Amino acid sequence: MTFEMLSSPVAFLKHRLAEIQHDPVLREYEAWWEREGKVTSQATDRAGTPWLRMFDRFGKRLDEILFSAEYWKMLKRGYQAGVVWRAFEENSLLPSFLLGYVISFYDPGLYCPYTVSLSTAVPLEKYGPPELKGRFLPQLLRRDEDVWQGATWMTEAGGGSDLGTAVETVARPAGDRWLLTGEKYFASNVGAELAVVAARPEGAPRNVRGLALFLLPRRREDGSLNYFVRRIKDKIGTRSVPTGEVELRDSEAYLLGRPEWGVYLILEVLNLSRVANSVGSVALAQRAMAEALSFAEQRTAFGRPILEHPLLRKQFEERFAALKMGFALAWEAVQRLNEVWHETPPYPDRYHLFRLIAHLAKYWTAEMAAQTAKWAMEVHGGAGVVEEYGVERWLREAMILSIWEGTPHRQILDGLEAMERKGAHRLLFQHLAATAEPQALEEIASRVEDHLALPTEEKEAKAEEVFRDLAAFTAATLLRKAEGASCGPD
Ligand SMILES: Cc1cc2nc3c(=O)[nH]c(=O)nc-3n(C[C@H](O)[C@H](O)[C@H](O)COP(=O)(O)OP(=O)(O)OC[C@H]3O[C@@H](n4cnc5c(N)ncnc54)[C@H](O)[C@@H]3O)c2cc1C
Repeated sequence: MTFEMLSSPVAFLKHRLAEIQHDPVLREYEAWWEREGKVTSQATDRAGTPWLRMFDRFGKRLDEILFSAEYWKMLKRGYQAGVVWRAFEENSLLPSFLLGYVISFYDPGLYCPYTVSLSTAVPLEKYGPPELKGRFLPQLLRRDEDVWQGATWMTEAGGGSDLGTAVETVARPAGDRWLLTGEKYFASNVGAELAVVAARPEGAPRNVRGLALFLLPRRREDGSLNYFVRRIKDKIGTRSVPTGEVELRDSEAYLLGRPEWGVYLILEVLNLSRVANSVGSVALAQRAMAEALSFAEQRTAFGRPILEHPLLRKQFEERFAALKMGFALAWEAVQRLNEVWHETPPYPDRYHLFRLIAHLAKYWTAEMAAQTAKWAMEVHGGAGVVEEYGVERWLREAMILSIWEGTPHRQILDGLEAMERKGAHRLLFQHLAATAEPQALEEIASRVEDHLALPTEEKEAKAEEVFRDLAAFTAATLLRKAEGASCGPD
Protein backbone atom coordinates (compact mmCIF):
# COMPACT_ATOMS: atom_id res chain seq x y z
CA MET A 1 0.00 0.00 0.00
CA THR A 2 1.29 3.47 -0.80
CA PHE A 3 0.38 6.57 1.16
CA GLU A 4 1.70 9.06 -1.41
CA MET A 5 -1.51 11.00 -1.86
CA LEU A 6 -1.54 11.97 1.83
CA SER A 7 0.61 15.03 1.21
CA SER A 8 -1.95 16.63 -1.11
CA PRO A 9 -5.61 17.29 -0.26
CA VAL A 10 -6.56 17.42 -3.94
CA ALA A 11 -4.80 14.13 -4.66
CA PHE A 12 -6.69 12.53 -1.77
CA LEU A 13 -10.02 13.93 -3.01
CA LYS A 14 -9.28 12.50 -6.45
CA HIS A 15 -8.37 9.20 -4.89
CA ARG A 16 -11.68 9.04 -3.05
CA LEU A 17 -14.15 10.50 -5.56
CA ALA A 18 -14.84 9.13 -8.99
CA GLU A 19 -14.86 12.65 -10.37
CA ILE A 20 -14.32 16.02 -8.77
CA GLN A 21 -15.77 19.26 -9.96
CA HIS A 22 -13.50 22.22 -10.55
CA ASP A 23 -10.29 20.24 -10.56
CA PRO A 24 -8.22 23.18 -11.96
CA VAL A 25 -9.66 25.57 -9.34
CA LEU A 26 -8.80 23.17 -6.54
CA ARG A 27 -5.32 22.50 -7.86
CA GLU A 28 -4.60 26.18 -8.29
CA TYR A 29 -5.89 26.86 -4.75
CA GLU A 30 -3.74 24.10 -3.29
CA ALA A 31 -0.70 25.48 -5.11
CA TRP A 32 -1.43 28.91 -3.59
CA TRP A 33 -1.58 27.38 -0.11
CA GLU A 34 1.78 25.70 -0.64
CA ARG A 35 3.29 28.91 -2.02
CA GLU A 36 1.86 31.51 0.34
CA GLY A 37 -1.01 30.41 2.57
CA LYS A 38 0.87 27.82 4.61
CA VAL A 39 3.36 30.34 5.99
CA THR A 40 0.63 32.86 6.80
CA SER A 41 -1.42 30.19 8.53
CA GLN A 42 1.54 29.10 10.66
CA ALA A 43 2.34 32.69 11.58
CA THR A 44 -1.28 33.38 12.51
CA ASP A 45 -1.37 30.34 14.77
CA ARG A 46 1.91 31.27 16.42
CA ALA A 47 0.85 34.89 16.90
CA GLY A 48 -2.08 33.74 19.06
CA THR A 49 -5.18 35.77 19.79
CA PRO A 50 -5.73 38.74 17.48
CA TRP A 51 -5.96 42.17 19.01
CA LEU A 52 -9.21 44.03 19.53
CA ARG A 53 -9.03 47.79 18.96
CA MET A 54 -12.08 48.98 20.87
CA PHE A 55 -11.77 52.77 20.55
CA ASP A 56 -10.34 55.29 18.12
CA ARG A 57 -8.09 58.17 19.21
CA PHE A 58 -11.11 60.24 20.20
CA GLY A 59 -12.68 57.55 22.35
CA LYS A 60 -15.28 56.51 19.78
CA ARG A 61 -16.17 52.81 19.85
CA LEU A 62 -14.66 50.93 16.88
CA ASP A 63 -14.46 47.22 17.83
CA GLU A 64 -11.98 46.45 15.08
CA ILE A 65 -10.34 42.99 14.90
CA LEU A 66 -6.66 43.32 14.07
CA PHE A 67 -4.89 40.54 12.20
CA SER A 68 -1.86 40.90 9.94
CA ALA A 69 -2.39 42.06 6.35
CA GLU A 70 -1.35 38.56 5.20
CA TYR A 71 -4.18 37.05 7.24
CA TRP A 72 -6.79 39.15 5.43
CA LYS A 73 -5.26 38.14 2.12
CA MET A 74 -5.41 34.47 3.10
CA LEU A 75 -9.02 34.86 4.21
CA LYS A 76 -10.19 36.71 1.10
CA ARG A 77 -8.49 34.17 -1.17
CA GLY A 78 -11.00 31.49 -0.08
CA TYR A 79 -14.01 33.71 -0.70
CA GLN A 80 -12.64 34.54 -4.14
CA ALA A 81 -12.14 30.83 -4.92
CA GLY A 82 -15.87 30.43 -4.35
CA VAL A 83 -16.40 28.80 -0.98
CA VAL A 84 -19.65 30.78 -0.62
CA TRP A 85 -20.69 32.22 -4.00
CA ARG A 86 -20.39 28.96 -5.92
CA ALA A 87 -23.14 27.37 -3.81
CA PHE A 88 -25.64 29.87 -5.18
CA GLU A 89 -24.28 30.26 -8.68
CA GLU A 90 -24.14 26.49 -9.22
CA ASN A 91 -27.06 25.59 -6.96
CA SER A 92 -24.84 22.97 -5.32
CA LEU A 93 -22.95 22.80 -2.05
CA LEU A 94 -20.38 20.35 -3.41
CA PRO A 95 -17.83 22.92 -4.68
CA SER A 96 -17.95 24.67 -1.32
CA PHE A 97 -17.20 21.47 0.60
CA LEU A 98 -14.43 20.49 -1.83
CA LEU A 99 -12.79 23.86 -1.26
CA GLY A 100 -13.44 23.43 2.47
CA TYR A 101 -11.47 20.19 2.41
CA VAL A 102 -8.45 21.93 0.89
CA ILE A 103 -8.73 24.84 3.37
CA SER A 104 -8.95 22.53 6.39
CA PHE A 105 -5.92 20.51 5.34
CA TYR A 106 -3.92 23.71 5.71
CA ASP A 107 -5.90 25.55 8.38
CA PRO A 108 -9.00 23.97 9.99
CA GLY A 109 -9.74 27.17 11.92
CA LEU A 110 -9.91 29.22 8.75
CA TYR A 111 -12.68 27.00 7.45
CA CYS A 112 -14.88 28.45 10.22
CA PRO A 113 -15.35 31.97 8.71
CA TYR A 114 -16.38 30.45 5.38
CA THR A 115 -18.71 27.94 7.00
CA VAL A 116 -20.51 30.51 9.11
CA SER A 117 -20.73 32.86 6.12
CA LEU A 118 -22.38 30.09 4.11
CA SER A 119 -24.58 29.27 7.11
CA THR A 120 -25.69 32.91 7.12
CA ALA A 121 -26.27 33.15 3.37
CA VAL A 122 -28.36 29.96 3.15
CA PRO A 123 -31.12 30.90 5.66
CA LEU A 124 -31.11 34.47 4.32
CA GLU A 125 -31.70 33.14 0.81
CA LYS A 126 -34.32 30.61 1.97
CA TYR A 127 -36.25 32.58 4.56
CA GLY A 128 -35.45 36.26 4.08
CA PRO A 129 -38.13 38.54 2.61
CA PRO A 130 -37.19 39.83 -0.89
CA GLU A 131 -36.19 43.31 0.33
CA LEU A 132 -33.80 41.86 2.93
CA LYS A 133 -32.28 39.43 0.46
CA GLY A 134 -31.83 42.16 -2.13
CA ARG A 135 -30.05 44.33 0.42
CA PHE A 136 -27.72 41.79 2.01
CA LEU A 137 -27.28 38.58 0.00
CA PRO A 138 -25.26 40.11 -2.88
CA GLN A 139 -22.74 41.40 -0.32
CA LEU A 140 -22.08 37.87 0.93
CA LEU A 141 -21.64 36.62 -2.64
CA ARG A 142 -19.14 39.21 -3.82
CA ARG A 143 -15.97 37.90 -5.43
CA ASP A 144 -13.77 40.88 -4.64
CA GLU A 145 -11.96 42.27 -1.60
CA ASP A 146 -15.13 43.86 -0.27
CA VAL A 147 -16.99 40.58 0.27
CA TRP A 148 -19.03 40.54 3.48
CA GLN A 149 -18.73 37.82 6.07
CA GLY A 150 -21.41 36.06 8.09
CA ALA A 151 -21.53 34.53 11.58
CA THR A 152 -23.85 32.23 13.56
CA TRP A 153 -24.34 33.20 17.18
CA MET A 154 -26.50 31.03 19.40
CA THR A 155 -24.49 30.19 22.55
CA GLU A 156 -24.81 32.30 25.70
CA ALA A 157 -23.03 32.18 29.06
CA GLY A 158 -25.54 29.69 30.48
CA GLY A 159 -24.39 27.04 27.98
CA GLY A 160 -24.56 25.95 24.36
CA SER A 161 -26.07 22.48 24.73
CA ASP A 162 -29.40 23.53 26.20
CA LEU A 163 -30.20 26.59 24.08
CA GLY A 164 -33.89 26.44 24.98
CA THR A 165 -33.07 27.34 28.60
CA ALA A 166 -29.84 29.28 28.21
CA VAL A 167 -30.75 31.87 25.56
CA GLU A 168 -31.59 35.06 27.46
CA THR A 169 -31.42 37.42 24.48
CA VAL A 170 -34.79 39.10 24.06
CA ALA A 171 -36.27 40.41 20.79
CA ARG A 172 -38.79 43.28 20.80
CA PRO A 173 -40.74 44.16 17.66
CA ALA A 174 -40.10 47.68 16.34
CA GLY A 175 -41.92 48.39 13.08
CA ASP A 176 -40.35 46.47 10.19
CA ARG A 177 -37.51 45.18 12.39
CA TRP A 178 -36.76 43.86 15.86
CA LEU A 179 -34.51 45.16 18.64
CA LEU A 180 -32.33 42.52 20.33
CA THR A 181 -30.81 42.84 23.78
CA GLY A 182 -28.54 40.21 25.33
CA GLU A 183 -25.06 38.68 25.16
CA LYS A 184 -23.53 36.02 22.96
CA TYR A 185 -20.72 34.22 24.74
CA PHE A 186 -18.94 32.24 21.99
CA ALA A 187 -19.24 34.36 18.88
CA SER A 188 -16.92 33.11 16.14
CA ASN A 189 -16.01 35.30 13.21
CA VAL A 190 -16.73 38.25 15.42
CA GLY A 191 -16.44 41.43 13.39
CA ALA A 192 -18.53 39.91 10.60
CA GLU A 193 -20.79 42.29 8.70
CA LEU A 194 -23.83 40.03 9.27
CA ALA A 195 -24.78 37.38 11.80
CA VAL A 196 -27.69 35.02 12.28
CA VAL A 197 -28.64 35.13 15.93
CA ALA A 198 -30.96 33.09 18.17
CA ALA A 199 -33.22 35.23 20.38
CA ARG A 200 -36.50 34.89 22.23
CA PRO A 201 -39.32 37.21 21.14
CA GLU A 202 -40.80 38.95 24.20
CA GLY A 203 -43.38 36.72 25.88
CA ALA A 204 -42.37 33.53 23.98
CA PRO A 205 -42.06 30.34 26.06
CA ARG A 206 -38.80 29.64 27.91
CA ASN A 207 -38.00 26.55 25.94
CA VAL A 208 -36.46 25.75 22.59
CA ARG A 209 -39.76 26.39 20.78
CA GLY A 210 -39.69 29.95 22.07
CA LEU A 211 -36.56 30.79 20.05
CA ALA A 212 -36.52 32.56 16.69
CA LEU A 213 -33.71 33.27 14.22
CA PHE A 214 -32.76 36.84 13.29
CA LEU A 215 -30.41 38.45 10.80
CA LEU A 216 -28.27 41.06 12.54
CA PRO A 217 -26.06 43.50 10.59
CA ARG A 218 -22.87 44.82 12.12
CA ARG A 219 -24.01 48.38 11.49
CA ARG A 220 -27.35 50.01 12.09
CA GLU A 221 -29.09 51.72 9.23
CA ASP A 222 -27.57 55.05 10.40
CA GLY A 223 -24.05 53.53 10.12
CA SER A 224 -23.32 53.22 13.85
CA LEU A 225 -22.18 49.96 15.47
CA ASN A 226 -25.06 47.54 15.99
CA TYR A 227 -23.20 45.06 18.22
CA PHE A 228 -20.26 45.43 20.58
CA VAL A 229 -17.30 43.12 21.10
CA ARG A 230 -16.50 42.81 24.79
CA ARG A 231 -13.35 40.76 24.27
CA ILE A 232 -11.74 38.10 22.09
CA LYS A 233 -11.23 34.69 23.63
CA ASP A 234 -7.71 33.35 24.00
CA LYS A 235 -8.09 29.86 22.48
CA ILE A 236 -5.72 26.89 22.22
CA GLY A 237 -6.47 26.55 18.49
CA THR A 238 -8.54 27.77 15.53
CA ARG A 239 -6.72 31.07 15.92
CA SER A 240 -7.51 31.91 12.30
CA VAL A 241 -11.01 32.78 13.39
CA PRO A 242 -11.58 35.37 16.09
CA THR A 243 -14.07 34.15 18.71
CA GLY A 244 -15.48 36.88 20.89
CA GLU A 245 -18.10 37.84 23.40
CA VAL A 246 -20.74 40.07 21.89
CA GLU A 247 -23.12 42.52 23.52
CA LEU A 248 -26.43 43.35 21.88
CA ARG A 249 -28.08 46.57 23.03
CA ASP A 250 -31.35 47.24 21.24
CA SER A 251 -29.53 45.93 18.18
CA GLU A 252 -31.45 46.14 14.91
CA ALA A 253 -32.33 42.72 13.51
CA TYR A 254 -34.69 41.10 11.01
CA LEU A 255 -36.76 37.99 11.58
CA LEU A 256 -35.99 35.04 9.28
CA GLY A 257 -38.91 32.74 8.51
CA ARG A 258 -41.82 32.39 10.89
CA PRO A 259 -41.14 32.83 14.62
CA GLU A 260 -42.56 29.36 15.37
CA TRP A 261 -40.02 27.84 12.95
CA GLY A 262 -37.09 29.28 14.90
CA VAL A 263 -35.83 26.04 16.34
CA TYR A 264 -35.85 24.38 12.91
CA LEU A 265 -33.95 27.25 11.33
CA ILE A 266 -31.38 27.20 14.13
CA LEU A 267 -30.90 23.47 13.59
CA GLU A 268 -30.56 23.95 9.83
CA VAL A 269 -27.73 26.41 10.49
CA LEU A 270 -26.05 24.08 12.98
CA ASN A 271 -26.42 21.03 10.76
CA LEU A 272 -24.76 22.75 7.81
CA SER A 273 -21.86 23.67 10.08
CA ARG A 274 -21.70 20.11 11.43
CA VAL A 275 -21.22 18.76 7.92
CA ALA A 276 -18.44 21.28 7.34
CA ASN A 277 -16.92 20.23 10.67
CA SER A 278 -16.91 16.61 9.49
CA VAL A 279 -15.19 17.51 6.22
CA GLY A 280 -12.68 19.62 8.17
CA SER A 281 -12.00 16.81 10.64
CA VAL A 282 -11.11 14.36 7.89
CA ALA A 283 -8.84 16.90 6.21
CA LEU A 284 -7.12 17.57 9.55
CA ALA A 285 -6.59 13.83 10.06
CA GLN A 286 -5.08 13.61 6.58
CA ARG A 287 -2.72 16.48 7.37
CA ALA A 288 -1.62 14.90 10.66
CA MET A 289 -1.02 11.59 8.86
CA ALA A 290 0.94 13.32 6.10
CA GLU A 291 3.26 14.88 8.68
CA ALA A 292 3.63 11.57 10.51
CA LEU A 293 4.48 9.89 7.20
CA SER A 294 7.14 12.37 6.17
CA PHE A 295 8.82 11.92 9.57
CA ALA A 296 8.49 8.12 9.60
CA GLU A 297 10.02 7.79 6.13
CA GLN A 298 13.14 9.65 7.18
CA ARG A 299 13.64 8.75 10.82
CA THR A 300 15.64 5.56 11.29
CA ALA A 301 15.73 3.25 14.30
CA PHE A 302 17.16 -0.26 14.58
CA GLY A 303 18.72 0.05 11.14
CA ARG A 304 15.76 1.07 8.98
CA PRO A 305 13.21 3.86 8.55
CA ILE A 306 10.64 3.57 11.33
CA LEU A 307 7.88 3.29 8.70
CA GLU A 308 9.30 -0.08 7.73
CA HIS A 309 8.91 -1.56 11.20
CA PRO A 310 5.89 -3.88 11.20
CA LEU A 311 4.12 -2.36 14.21
CA LEU A 312 4.27 1.19 12.89
CA ARG A 313 3.51 0.12 9.31
CA LYS A 314 0.38 -1.65 10.56
CA GLN A 315 -0.69 1.48 12.43
CA PHE A 316 -0.32 3.53 9.25
CA GLU A 317 -2.46 1.04 7.37
CA GLU A 318 -5.15 1.07 10.06
CA ARG A 319 -5.14 4.86 10.28
CA PHE A 320 -5.39 5.12 6.52
CA ALA A 321 -8.37 2.76 6.50
CA ALA A 322 -10.03 4.88 9.22
CA LEU A 323 -9.30 8.03 7.21
CA LYS A 324 -11.07 6.56 4.19
CA MET A 325 -14.02 5.52 6.37
CA GLY A 326 -14.19 9.01 7.82
CA PHE A 327 -14.13 10.53 4.36
CA ALA A 328 -16.89 8.21 3.14
CA LEU A 329 -19.07 9.18 6.11
CA ALA A 330 -18.39 12.91 5.85
CA TRP A 331 -18.96 12.92 2.10
CA GLU A 332 -22.23 11.05 2.52
CA ALA A 333 -23.33 13.84 4.88
CA VAL A 334 -22.33 16.36 2.18
CA GLN A 335 -24.32 14.57 -0.49
CA ARG A 336 -27.42 14.10 1.64
CA LEU A 337 -27.27 17.78 2.64
CA ASN A 338 -26.93 18.74 -0.99
CA GLU A 339 -30.24 16.96 -1.63
CA VAL A 340 -32.16 18.63 1.18
CA TRP A 341 -30.73 22.12 1.70
CA HIS A 342 -33.73 23.78 0.05
CA GLU A 343 -36.28 21.91 2.20
CA THR A 344 -38.38 23.88 4.69
CA PRO A 345 -40.49 22.57 7.62
CA PRO A 346 -42.30 20.18 7.71
CA TYR A 347 -39.42 18.10 6.41
CA PRO A 348 -39.62 14.92 4.33
CA ASP A 349 -37.98 11.64 5.38
CA ARG A 350 -34.83 12.32 3.39
CA TYR A 351 -34.19 15.32 5.66
CA HIS A 352 -34.39 13.11 8.76
CA LEU A 353 -31.99 10.66 7.11
CA PHE A 354 -29.59 13.55 6.46
CA ARG A 355 -29.87 14.70 10.08
CA LEU A 356 -28.90 11.32 11.49
CA ILE A 357 -25.97 10.97 9.07
CA ALA A 358 -24.79 14.48 9.99
CA HIS A 359 -24.78 13.60 13.72
CA LEU A 360 -22.94 10.33 13.06
CA ALA A 361 -20.40 12.08 10.85
CA LYS A 362 -19.77 15.00 13.22
CA TYR A 363 -19.31 12.64 16.16
CA TRP A 364 -17.14 10.02 14.47
CA THR A 365 -14.87 12.19 12.33
CA ALA A 366 -14.05 14.65 15.15
CA GLU A 367 -13.01 11.76 17.38
CA MET A 368 -10.96 10.26 14.55
CA ALA A 369 -9.25 13.61 13.97
CA ALA A 370 -8.28 13.98 17.64
CA GLN A 371 -7.00 10.39 17.86
CA THR A 372 -5.04 10.72 14.61
CA ALA A 373 -3.51 14.03 15.69
CA LYS A 374 -2.45 12.51 19.03
CA TRP A 375 -0.93 9.53 17.24
CA ALA A 376 0.92 11.80 14.77
CA MET A 377 2.62 13.43 17.76
CA GLU A 378 3.57 10.02 19.12
CA VAL A 379 5.07 9.03 15.76
CA HIS A 380 7.32 12.09 16.02
CA GLY A 381 8.51 11.02 19.47
CA GLY A 382 9.97 13.94 21.42
CA ALA A 383 9.86 16.21 18.36
CA GLY A 384 6.07 15.86 18.49
CA VAL A 385 5.76 18.03 21.59
CA VAL A 386 8.07 20.78 20.37
CA GLU A 387 6.01 23.76 19.26
CA GLU A 388 8.34 24.90 16.51
CA TYR A 389 7.73 21.73 14.46
CA GLY A 390 4.00 22.36 14.43
CA VAL A 391 2.72 18.78 14.79
CA GLU A 392 1.12 19.60 18.14
CA ARG A 393 -1.05 22.18 16.36
CA TRP A 394 -3.26 19.50 14.83
CA LEU A 395 -4.23 18.15 18.26
CA ARG A 396 -5.04 21.67 19.51
CA GLU A 397 -7.19 22.27 16.43
CA ALA A 398 -8.85 18.84 16.62
CA MET A 399 -9.97 19.36 20.22
CA ILE A 400 -11.99 22.35 19.12
CA LEU A 401 -13.57 20.47 16.22
CA SER A 402 -15.06 17.97 18.65
CA ILE A 403 -16.57 20.68 20.88
CA TRP A 404 -17.96 23.46 18.71
CA GLU A 405 -21.12 22.84 16.68
CA GLY A 406 -22.17 20.57 19.57
CA THR A 407 -20.10 18.24 21.73
CA PRO A 408 -20.08 14.44 21.22
CA HIS A 409 -22.82 14.15 23.90
CA ARG A 410 -25.04 16.46 21.88
CA GLN A 411 -24.48 14.51 18.66
CA ILE A 412 -25.34 11.23 20.38
CA LEU A 413 -28.47 12.54 22.11
CA ASP A 414 -29.75 14.47 19.06
CA GLY A 415 -29.04 11.41 16.92
CA LEU A 416 -31.11 9.30 19.32
CA GLU A 417 -33.92 11.82 19.10
CA ALA A 418 -33.92 11.64 15.28
CA MET A 419 -34.18 7.87 15.57
CA GLU A 420 -36.90 7.83 18.21
CA ARG A 421 -39.10 10.59 16.83
CA LYS A 422 -38.52 10.24 13.10
CA GLY A 423 -37.44 6.63 12.67
CA ALA A 424 -34.21 7.91 11.08
CA HIS A 425 -32.35 4.65 11.85
CA ARG A 426 -34.80 2.69 9.67
CA LEU A 427 -34.27 5.18 6.86
CA LEU A 428 -30.53 4.71 7.31
CA PHE A 429 -30.73 0.92 7.19
CA GLN A 430 -32.85 1.07 4.03
CA HIS A 431 -30.36 3.48 2.54
CA LEU A 432 -27.43 1.16 3.25
CA ALA A 433 -29.18 -2.16 2.55
CA ALA A 434 -27.88 -2.65 -1.00
CA THR A 435 -24.23 -2.38 0.07
CA ALA A 436 -24.15 -3.50 3.69
CA GLU A 437 -22.86 -6.85 4.79
CA PRO A 438 -26.24 -8.55 5.55
CA GLN A 439 -25.36 -10.10 8.90
CA ALA A 440 -23.70 -6.94 10.20
CA LEU A 441 -26.75 -4.95 9.11
CA GLU A 442 -29.13 -7.27 10.90
CA GLU A 443 -27.02 -7.21 14.03
CA ILE A 444 -26.72 -3.43 14.30
CA ALA A 445 -30.39 -2.92 13.39
CA SER A 446 -31.56 -5.16 16.19
CA ARG A 447 -29.10 -3.57 18.67
CA VAL A 448 -30.41 -0.12 17.82
CA GLU A 449 -34.07 -1.20 18.14
CA ASP A 450 -33.34 -2.88 21.50
CA HIS A 451 -31.55 0.21 22.67
CA LEU A 452 -34.40 2.53 21.73
CA ALA A 453 -36.79 0.38 23.76
CA LEU A 454 -34.81 0.95 27.01
CA PRO A 455 -36.15 3.22 29.78
CA THR A 456 -35.06 6.84 29.25
CA GLU A 457 -32.29 7.10 31.88
CA GLU A 458 -30.71 3.80 30.85
CA LYS A 459 -31.08 4.66 27.18
CA GLU A 460 -29.05 7.86 27.62
CA ALA A 461 -26.52 6.28 29.95
CA LYS A 462 -25.71 3.47 27.52
CA ALA A 463 -26.05 5.41 24.28
CA GLU A 464 -22.42 6.02 23.40
CA GLU A 465 -21.41 2.47 22.59
CA VAL A 466 -24.29 1.77 20.24
CA PHE A 467 -24.00 5.20 18.59
CA ARG A 468 -20.27 4.72 18.03
CA ASP A 469 -20.84 1.28 16.56
CA LEU A 470 -23.62 2.60 14.35
CA ALA A 471 -21.29 5.35 13.08
CA ALA A 472 -18.49 2.84 12.43
CA PHE A 473 -20.89 0.47 10.66
CA THR A 474 -22.24 3.31 8.50
CA ALA A 475 -18.75 4.52 7.63
CA ALA A 476 -17.54 1.00 6.79
CA THR A 477 -20.58 0.33 4.60
CA LEU A 478 -20.18 3.62 2.75
CA LEU A 479 -16.52 2.81 2.20
CA ARG A 480 -17.47 -0.58 0.73
CA LYS A 481 -19.82 1.24 -1.61
CA ALA A 482 -17.16 3.77 -2.63
CA GLU A 483 -14.48 1.12 -3.16
CA GLY A 484 -16.90 -1.06 -5.07
CA ALA A 485 -17.54 1.87 -7.40
CA SER A 486 -14.50 3.61 -8.76
CA CYS A 487 -11.53 4.60 -6.71
CA GLY A 488 -7.91 4.72 -7.67
CA PRO A 489 -5.59 1.97 -6.45
CA ASP A 490 -4.16 2.29 -2.93
C1 LIG B 1 -13.69 27.90 19.76
C2 LIG B 1 -15.17 27.89 19.90
C3 LIG B 1 -15.92 28.69 19.05
C4 LIG B 1 -17.31 28.71 19.17
N1 LIG B 1 -18.04 29.50 18.32
C5 LIG B 1 -19.39 29.56 18.46
C6 LIG B 1 -20.19 30.38 17.62
O1 LIG B 1 -19.69 31.06 16.72
N2 LIG B 1 -21.51 30.42 17.82
C7 LIG B 1 -22.11 29.70 18.80
O2 LIG B 1 -23.32 29.77 18.92
N3 LIG B 1 -21.38 28.91 19.62
C8 LIG B 1 -20.05 28.81 19.47
N4 LIG B 1 -19.31 28.00 20.29
C9 LIG B 1 -19.96 27.36 21.41
C10 LIG B 1 -20.14 25.88 21.24
O3 LIG B 1 -21.17 25.61 20.34
C11 LIG B 1 -20.39 25.34 22.65
O4 LIG B 1 -19.15 25.39 23.34
C12 LIG B 1 -20.95 23.95 22.67
O5 LIG B 1 -22.21 23.91 22.09
C13 LIG B 1 -21.07 23.45 24.13
O6 LIG B 1 -21.66 24.39 24.95
P1 LIG B 1 -20.94 24.88 26.29
O7 LIG B 1 -19.53 25.15 25.99
O8 LIG B 1 -21.73 25.97 26.88
O9 LIG B 1 -21.00 23.62 27.24
P2 LIG B 1 -22.28 23.12 28.05
O10 LIG B 1 -23.47 23.17 27.20
O11 LIG B 1 -22.31 23.84 29.35
O12 LIG B 1 -21.87 21.62 28.30
C14 LIG B 1 -20.84 21.24 29.22
C15 LIG B 1 -20.67 19.72 29.11
O13 LIG B 1 -21.88 19.08 29.50
C16 LIG B 1 -22.27 18.16 28.51
N5 LIG B 1 -23.72 18.01 28.47
C17 LIG B 1 -24.67 18.96 28.34
N6 LIG B 1 -25.89 18.40 28.32
C18 LIG B 1 -25.71 17.06 28.44
C19 LIG B 1 -26.58 15.94 28.49
N7 LIG B 1 -27.91 16.08 28.37
N8 LIG B 1 -26.05 14.73 28.62
C20 LIG B 1 -24.73 14.55 28.71
N9 LIG B 1 -23.84 15.57 28.68
C21 LIG B 1 -24.33 16.81 28.55
C22 LIG B 1 -21.75 18.79 27.21
O14 LIG B 1 -21.70 17.84 26.17
C23 LIG B 1 -20.39 19.27 27.67
O15 LIG B 1 -19.47 18.21 27.66
C24 LIG B 1 -17.93 27.94 20.16
C25 LIG B 1 -17.16 27.11 20.99
C26 LIG B 1 -15.80 27.09 20.85
C27 LIG B 1 -15.00 26.19 21.77
